[in-house]
Amino acid sequence: MLGLRKLRESNEHTTSYYAASANWQTHYPRLEEEISCDVVVVGGGFTGVNTALELAERGFDVVLLEARRISWGASGRNGGQIIGGIGQDPERFVKHIGEDGVKTIHQMGIEARDIIRDRVQTYDIQCDLKWGYCDVALKPRHMKDFAAWQAFEKQIGNPHTYSLLDKDELKQFVNSEKYLGGLHNESNGHIQPLNLCIGEARALEGLGGRIFEQSLVTEVIPGDQPRVKTEHGCVKARQVVLAGNAYLGGLIAKLSKRVLPCSSSVIATSPLPDELAKKLVPGDVAVCDPRAALDYFRLSADKRMLFGGLANYTGMEPSNLESVMRKKMIAIFPELNNVSIDYAWSGWIGIGLNRMPQLGRLSDNIAYIQAYSGHGVAPTHMMARITAEMIAKETTRFDVMAKLPQVTFPGGQLFRMPMLAAGMAYYKALDAL
Ligand SMILES: Cc1cc2nc3c(=O)[nH]c(=O)nc-3n(C[C@H](O)[C@H](O)[C@H](O)COP(=O)(O)OP(=O)(O)OC[C@H]3O[C@@H](n4cnc5c(N)ncnc54)[C@H](O)[C@@H]3O)c2cc1C
Repeated sequence: MLGLRKLRESNEHTTSYYAASANWQTHYPRLEEEISCDVVVVGGGFTGVNTALELAERGFDVVLLEARRISWGASGRNGGQIIGGIGQDPERFVKHIGEDGVKTIHQMGIEARDIIRDRVQTYDIQCDLKWGYCDVALKPRHMKDFAAWQAFEKQIGNPHTYSLLDKDELKQFVNSEKYLGGLHNESNGHIQPLNLCIGEARALEGLGGRIFEQSLVTEVIPGDQPRVKTEHGCVKARQVVLAGNAYLGGLIAKLSKRVLPCSSSVIATSPLPDELAKKLVPGDVAVCDPRAALDYFRLSADKRMLFGGLANYTGMEPSNLESVMRKKMIAIFPELNNVSIDYAWSGWIGIGLNRMPQLGRLSDNIAYIQAYSGHGVAPTHMMARITAEMIAKETTRFDVMAKLPQVTFPGGQLFRMPMLAAGMAYYKALDAL
């Protein structure tokens, strides 16, 4: 039985490798007055920063409010894996959004990665962007799933090449005896996520967006001109976008009932000798296995192994995080047995019951975006874009997402965890087959 503890949090960044290798530390002011703008965005992760940036690019006067630091939440702590697709199996919702809606979601799943590519180029963001990714198979049935997936990507018109690899072929990219083969594609990749997000914030600032940190939003007062109150100030705006995701807490009860904060954890080893790094991940790709409780890993730019996993539906982390994660890593790469672990951290993923991002409007002028269910680095960029489109009066793509059912976890906070834990146990049992 694992001992659990709360995540170690403060108003500054967590104990991550990303915080330690950030290009610069953001120090935006705290909001201490009453101001007005066109759109106020709450939450300074990928969703909030990119919504604000997309709006600023369209000429809106934008204010961004972040409770701690830019990218303090999941966006500054994740595995850094840029993965295509939006949510899980949008075909399930054909009766809600029609065939065209399903197609729109698939197209957005392709476009999402291009937004990151464009951002990095346009704003010259130094974030160690690398293309290349492998899904890896632990069981023969995973290989069958990958073959079906490869065919599916072709069928939906994905222009990128997906290559099925047998055990030996996979070793050009990922060299572990654990894997039976894989599915490689060059359109997914990896980044230092904190550096991407603070680079995007700087781009926003360059376009005149006003950013406030250490500015927790305590109340949203609806009306013709909604008011967003912080502990020391207030913003009056024509539109509000709520992008606090798993960290929004109880600010809006209707939203928190639809999302479960679940923790995931990452360790970073010390930099590996070049030959060892090349031996283990010769393709320098990002890697995921297909289980519900998956392992994900990649090399950092300075050749550390960044190894993640360990979904925990209580939102807590093991009290012996380093040793639990080391064990998982060594199961894949026994060669790392004696390597030291320099950083270990966890963050909250916002899980939605049907594993599709949740977008919508609380009223004509208050929108929200949340619940990427652990797959948000690229989708956040896409959902931010369509929310900006909606505010600019092009509502088609936003409305497709808003029509997806958003299921409330029955029974509130206390019941949400056991329910998901039961669901998770079911998927773990499937993983074991
Ligand atoms: C450990 C981990 C690994 C992951 N790995 C991957 C991966 O490899 N690939 C992938 O695609 N996805 C991954 N994810 C998921 C991905 O990181 C998230 O989906 C994405 O970052 C969500 O971005 P966000 O902006 O919506 O939320 P967040 O980044 O969590 O940002 C929300 C922000 O809102 C702020 N906030 C909340 N409430 C308020 C308030 N009242 N007032 C002001 N500010 C507020 C918070 O402080 C926070 O900074 C991972 C997540 C975790 C935790």
